[in-house]
Amino acid sequence: MKSDYDVIVVGAGPAGSVAAATAARQGLDVLLIEKRQEIGEPVRCAEGMIKSGLDRFVEYDPKWVCARINSGRIYAPNGKSLYFHQLDTAGYVIDRNVFDRSLAKAAADEGSEVQVKTQATGLIIENGIVKGINGICMGRNFEARAKVVIGADGIESKIGRWAGLLEPLRLKDVESCAEFVVAGIDIDPECLEFYIGNRISPGGYVWIFPKGKNEANIGLGMLADRYNGIHPIDYLKKYVDSRFPEGRIIQSISGAVPVCDLSYRLSTAGLMLAGDGGRLVDPLLGAGIMNAMVSGRLAGNIAANAIKGGDVSAKALERYDMGIHSSIGKAIRRNYHVKEFIVNCSDWQINLVIAAIKKLRVEDIPISELFIEVTTSGLPLLKVARMVV
Ligand SMILES: Cc1cc2nc3c(=O)[nH]c(=O)nc-3n(C[C@H](O)[C@H](O)[C@H](O)COP(=O)(O)OP(=O)(O)OC[C@H]3O[C@@H](n4cnc5c(N)ncnc54)[C@H](O)[C@@H]3O)c2cc1C
Repeated sequence: MKSDYDVIVVGAGPAGSVAAATAARQGLDVLLIEKRQEIGEPVRCAEGMIKSGLDRFVEYDPKWVCARINSGRIYAPNGKSLYFHQLDTAGYVIDRNVFDRSLAKAAADEGSEVQVKTQATGLIIENGIVKGINGICMGRNFEARAKVVIGADGIESKIGRWAGLLEPLRLKDVESCAEFVVAGIDIDPECLEFYIGNRISPGGYVWIFPKGKNEANIGLGMLADRYNGIHPIDYLKKYVDSRFPEGRIIQSISGAVPVCDLSYRLSTAGLMLAGDGGRLVDPLLGAGIMNAMVSGRLAGNIAANAIKGGDVSAKALERYDMGIHSSIGKAIRRNYHVKEFIVNCSDWQINLVIAAIKKLRVEDIPISELFIEVTTSGLPLLKVARMVV
């Protein structure tokens, strides 16, 4: 490893790999570091992705596709459901392990130096400007300098805190998740299922994402401030035991998703935060892979422009914040308010909301268009919900 780079990217998830590939493609000298031994491992994700979003970043590769999805069903606590479908593929359940590795390989193919088992342990900050990182690589301490550091270090992001940009997350802004991979079950292999309700998952939802014919990622998220002595894994076990008594749990994971508002800076002199490292997850759906790639690409481009222009000041990198706010930021802010509303509804209020949405005939909208509506601008979910409750 050298001691000087144009860009150092911390974390080789989707945000970091896309950021590194984007910057390296523009001729920059890029180091991408990952603290784990293997990129993509362990998978802490339900692995659902919308097709139209993926198409913007990668070419379809059957290697990372577990299931093609053409429908979705959202269940209210009373068992009534909204059903969305379309004839062609709307999304995928992917294999994150293979997917994340292929993104990291693309970063390497563009010329990035990729180092695994290499952890950032601190930032080098001089006169208020981030100048590089301190780290540990295969047990040895090192110091590496860069004109720009991109913090793509996931939900446990320390880069954001070391830079003074992020405060610890409030419990009400974290979904605490548990997930099993369950085999030997009878499910619709092309349909995503969502179950909302405070009894099965307080302040969150249960998901069933098929990974093929008889296998699925089954998980749930609950708001961390709703913890009442019962852990997410206990809720999940209860759900899986009653719904799929024949199922065999072949993997169990836990993780967390930030579901907060976007009310903080994502950049400072010499530094930008991308993906979960900048808490750029859709707070309503808990989906973050796409936002990770969008923000990674933007960070890579802004880094390249700033370095070529010889100005990595806080003012120059503020363009990153503006880019995020005018793209995915709008949906994050709006969906934060929708989430705040829904998590404070009782089960019978949720029943009313689902019934009212059903009356809007949203089921007639193709699922991919609906997803784009929900995650960008259109569907006035909050308005509908407020009218009903
Ligand atoms: C249970 C669960 C289910 C989910 N399901 C979905 C879903 O179906 N669809 C969806 O879109 N999103 C889902 N998400 C969210 C999604 O997984 C994340 O939003 C996404 O992984 C964010 O990508 P990222 O690159 O920002 O961060 P990550 O994928 O978390 O990558 C960050 C990387 O940084 C590394 N790192 C951390 N600190 C350091 C350090 N100091 N030095 C070096 N490396 C470091 C980590 O090891 C990690 O590899 C889910 C999340 C959870 C927990």
